[in-house]
Amino acid sequence: MSIVVLMETEPLEVPSGGGNWAPGGIRALHAARTDPSVIEDSVPEDPPERTLCGADARAMERHGYQPEQPSATWYPQNLEGWVCARCDAALRNS
Ligand SMILES: [Zn+2]
Repeated sequence: MSIVVLMETEPLEVPSGGGNWAPGGIRALHAARTDPSVIEDSVPEDPPERTLCGADARAMERHGYQPEQPSATWYPQNLEGWVCARCDAALRNS
């Protein structure tokens, strides 16, 4: 099992032609499971479709955080205040 961290961001008015994603627009931090069978097929970059709390993961920004130890939290410590309680509970109960 592998967990990816996804950031639900504030919808920002981005000028047509592109723009920079503004840090600080985080609304919540969600978790999603990647399918082990998908990973073994060596396409781990395929984004999951749903977060653990059932939100649409495809509209979210993927965070590059990876726990360095099994005992580490699934989310980056500096973003603890934004952790989705339902995703967190789902991981604790698994
Ligand atoms: Zn969530």
